[in-house]
Formats: sequence, structure tokens, C-alpha cells
Amino acid sequence: MTTSLRETDLGRTRRARRIGRVLADTHPDAHCELDHSNALELAVATILSAQCTDKRVNEVTPKLFAHYRQAADYAGADRAELEELIRPTGFYRNKTDSLIKLGQGLVERHDGRVPGKLTDLVHLPGIGRKTANVILGNAFDVPGITVDTHFNRLVRRWRLTTETDPVKIEHAIGALYPKRDWTMLSHRIIFHGRRVCHARKPACGACTLTKLCPSYGTGPTEPAAAAKLLKGPRAQELAAAAGVDPELVPVGNVRAEAP
Ligand code: SF4
Repeated sequence: MTTSLRETDLGRTRRARRIGRVLADTHPDAHCELDHSNALELAVATILSAQCTDKRVNEVTPKLFAHYRQAADYAGADRAELEELIRPTGFYRNKTDSLIKLGQGLVERHDGRVPGKLTDLVHLPGIGRKTANVILGNAFDVPGITVDTHFNRLVRRWRLTTETDPVKIEHAIGALYPKRDWTMLSHRIIFHGRRVCHARKPACGACTLTKLCPSYGTGPTEPAAAAKLLKGPRAQELAAAAGVDPELVPVGNVRAEAP
């Protein structure tokens, strides 16, 4: 599509809502990809996910969560032992620091519980606004928009906003969608960014959003070339949803990790 420079606010809102509906059909499996069973585990996993794939974090956390069950366990952690457990996620010294300080902050200020309010969360060590929104949306059912690198790239490719600051992006996109949709919308956008609309070579010719996206053509538009770029366990279904022959998706892509 070509979006006119004069697209009205109403036109943009309608296009945004259509994009949201197509994404819901395209990624029915969208969810938080960090394994967790409570708010503390999600907070810890989100800290570990900085500069690391969710898959790698999920390999590390079962043993970690078995050893560290409460905030007090992190507060009083043996640094060397904790470092060793989380080492595969990279930057393990800084992350160990963050986890110990988070545990201490939770024990000192919140009786060891993860609070369910944005203002409380962002004042905890190691928890920025993005992490806070992940926790609110996925552990407390409080709608939250998660502006990570994928979200940031996609909403700007779709020209839903020209903002570059994550907080401004969060507010601009939040205004286009009903609040109740924010958490799932974030998951779906991040799924699309990981599996279809990659940073360097987006799979434009095998994308379900071609008619709604002003950046169509940023990546290959030829179906065979585009299908090779689809990633993840549903890569063939993603091709079919875009009207592309699923057989064009290389088998290896189905197993490929979507970073
Ligand atoms: S058409 Fe291309 S740029 Fe637009 S969302 Fe799809 S993959 Fe991304």
C-alpha cells in the first residue's frame, strides 16, 4: 500500500485496528515467551532476557527457580553460586547484581512480594518501564504495552507513529487501540517481528500485512525469496496465511529460533 502523507488520524486508527485484527489471525499462538509461573519468576526471567534470547533464558530458569523460590532467596544469594547458574545468559555479573538488588528491594519495601502497580515496579532495582509492563500484562492481567526492539521497529514501519522514544511510542500506540487489547497486541507485534518482519530482511512477499503496510518492499517481495525468511514452528502456516505455498519454507526455518 501507499499511505498518503495526508492520512487522517481516523484513517490511521482504522488501519491500526485492521493491522491488529490481521495479527490476531496470523499469530493465534502469541504469548509471553519467557517461561514463568508467578510474578517473581517473570521479573527474574525478564531481567535475564536483556541481550539474550528467550530460548536461552528458558534453558536456565528451571534450575534457577528450583533453587531461588522467594525474593528473600535472591536477597541473600551466594553471589558466586547465582553467577554460575545464570552465566549462559551473558552479562551474568551485572545480572547477578540486579537480581540480588531486586530481591533486597522486594523484601525491604514490599514484604517480598512483586507489586502490581507500574509506579511501584519502576522504582525497583533492575526493573525499567518495559519490564514493568511485561510483568503487569502477564502476571497481573493489567493491560500493558511492551515497547521492545521489535515493537519499536514494526509500529514505525507501519507509520503508526514517528516517535522514537519508547515511552512516547507506548502512549502513541496505546491511543490507537482499546486498553484491554494492549498486552496481546504487544505479544502479536513481537511475534511478527521475530518471525516475519525482521530488522534486516523482512519477509514482505510472505507477510499477511502487505495491503496495510506502507513499508511493503523493504524486504523481498517475491514469494519464494520471502518464504525463506519466515521463522519459527509455524513458519509454514505463516506462509499459507499470506497466500504463499508452504512448501517454499525451508524445513530448517521451522526449527529455527526466532530471536
Ligand atoms: S510488508 Fe514487509 S515491512 Fe511490512 S510488515 Fe510485512 S514484512 Fe514488515
